[in-house]
Amino acid sequence: VEPDRFDRIVATLRERGERVTGTRTAVLRVLLDTDHHTHLTAADIAEQVQQLDPGLHRATVYRTLDLLAELGVVEHVHVAHGAAVYHLTEERHQHLVCESCGAVLEAPVEVVDELAARIERDYGFRVRAGHFPLTGLCADCTG
Ligand SMILES: [Zn+2]
Ligand SMILES: [Zn+2]
Ligand SMILES: [Zn+2]
Repeated sequence: VEPDRFDRIVATLRERGERVTGTRTAVLRVLLDTDHHTHLTAADIAEQVQQLDPGLHRATVYRTLDLLAELGVVEHVHVAHGAAVYHLTEERHQHLVCESCGAVLEAPVEVVDELAARIERDYGFRVRAGHFPLTGLCADCTG
């Protein structure tokens, strides 16, 4: 765990009047210890939390993820069919998913800025980059 980031997030919880419980600490440790290219579902996070402390409950982990999402610390994104995965909000990125080989590439969310601006201008619709992947064919599969 990088102490600065952990402390910063804990400070955010305290500022909002939230208690820093064992489950909340464990969830943050799992998220901060996980390389952001690894995509963990809520169930994966619960499993790792229980490896840290078998006394912590799965349902509490899920509620913690909901709370952290409300506070803007984490957000869920969809990378493939099936369960959503969780990212720290400060690591937000746009996924590019290959429909042929399943490769998941990551690009900065700004990669869709021009498209998003055009969609908002023409349709009055505000795109939220990163929530869903862009799908297509990767360089290996088109080459
Ligand atoms: Zn990702
Ligand atoms: Zn969603
Ligand atoms: Zn591919």
